[in-house]
Amino acid sequence: MLRVEHIGIAVKSLQDSVPLFEKLLNTPCYKTETVESEAVNTAFFRQGETKIELLESTKPEGVIQAFIAKKGEGIHHLAFEVEDIAAEMERLKKEGFVLLNETPKKGADNKLVCFLHPKSTNAVLIELCQENRR
Ligand code: ZN
Repeated sequence: MLRVEHIGIAVKSLQDSVPLFEKLLNTPCYKTETVESEAVNTAFFRQGETKIELLESTKPEGVIQAFIAKKGEGIHHLAFEVEDIAAEMERLKKEGFVLLNETPKKGADNKLVCFLHPKSTNAVLIELCQENRR
């Protein structure tokens, strides 16, 4: 894995949390994007080499809404950038980690992504991401 690409934070409302993080980080949100397949609206901030991704549910039955209902707002996942997502998925699978998707899927910010089940990673939801070069 190359680096922590971003940290995902579940929030109830981007409208409330974007200005808060703009003040906190002293940098403007540079991008918002809806990922329909994940039922999330996202907002991104750059902080040095790493980004902060705020995640807001687009619907009551979405995964972010379910997370907030269970655990409240807060850190949702850690995303590691990888050079070759297919190879890394293969490696982690062999090591016994549970992949939440068997093939890389399109995530926010022009990435191919794969999530690892938290039951196999000390309860931390891990995202692998690779720049989508196509
Ligand atoms: Zn993410």
